[in-house]
Amino acid sequence: MRAVLCTNRRSIYETLFSFLKNEVDSFEVLTIKDELLDKIYLLNPDIIIFDLSERGNKKWKLIKKLTSAPSLREIPLIVIMPRKNESFIQKICEYEIFDYLVEKILKCELISKIHKAKQMIEINKELKQLITKDPLTGAYNRSFLMERIQEEIRWSLLYREPLSIALFDIDYFKKINDNYGHLTGDKILKEIVSLVAESLPNSFTLGRYGGEEFFILMPNTGEKEALRICDKLRKKVSKNQFHTYSGKKITLTISIGITTLNSENLVTMDELIQKADMALYKAKERGRNCVIYLSF
Ligand code: GH3
Ligand code: MG
Ligand code: MG
Repeated sequence: MRAVLCTNRRSIYETLFSFLKNEVDSFEVLTIKDELLDKIYLLNPDIIIFDLSERGNKKWKLIKKLTSAPSLREIPLIVIMPRKNESFIQKICEYEIFDYLVEKILKCELISKIHKAKQMIEINKELKQLITKDPLTGAYNRSFLMERIQEEIRWSLLYREPLSIALFDIDYFKKINDNYGHLTGDKILKEIVSLVAESLPNSFTLGRYGGEEFFILMPNTGEKEALRICDKLRKKVSKNQFHTYSGKKITLTISIGITTLNSENLVTMDELIQKADMALYKAKERGRNCVIYLSF
């Protein structure tokens, strides 16, 4: 667990460090000033402890951001009050702050709150997994995928980077179900997802669009590179040995449709998906086991 303490007091740092040094993997201290949030973004901590002893309103402005910014609001925040203060507690409730401590802090009390935060982090992780992943294959599910495409489109337009997307579908998958049963079909879906996932760069996102159709989001990747990566993937799948439920080795192929969003073409998510779908349709028409690219 990575902890960050925001304070301008050396004494509180020394006390908390001595309490927590065996409880956390890292313990960083940051001074309370305007650049605080940038530093927190960089450190990406699991828990934030914030000292409220500073005079003025700056601390509440920072706390408001800490409890509302999309990538920060999920980090448990524990605030420290020099003495019990009614208006502080009202603000703590208003901002839905995870927990608070009043000085003089006891070691057991701090550790118990840190343990509670650890449990919450674990539960959140599991929840996130449930909400974003397809339970059969472990690929991202359709709703997460749609959100991600929107995000990537915004990013690509903002930073003028190309965004390629690929839609692939297993060829003659019905035959696999018919010949070997539905359980084998399920097993093949899991095997293909792990094969594809391990073959792609970390920055790519693999999601299940439905049935045996999957999307690959390729940020900062133009036409040429997308075609190269997808054709390599197609070959890899065609050479791979998959396993039926009873252990028999079988082979299969995929067809892939690709398109690219460039900063010159302002297209919507639906148009982008439709274009990739059309490219996939053409790949099926051409005889399957191939990659087709369509531009705008
Ligand atoms: P094509 O080459 O044209 O893609 O032929 P196909 O047989 O693969 O046709 P299609 O893509 O239309 O077939 C999809 C089949 O995938 C139909 C459905 O029964 C099967 N399928 C979809 N989801 C699952 C699943 O979760 N498990 C299993 N076992 N089968 C699934
Ligand atoms: Mg198919
Ligand atoms: Mg299909």
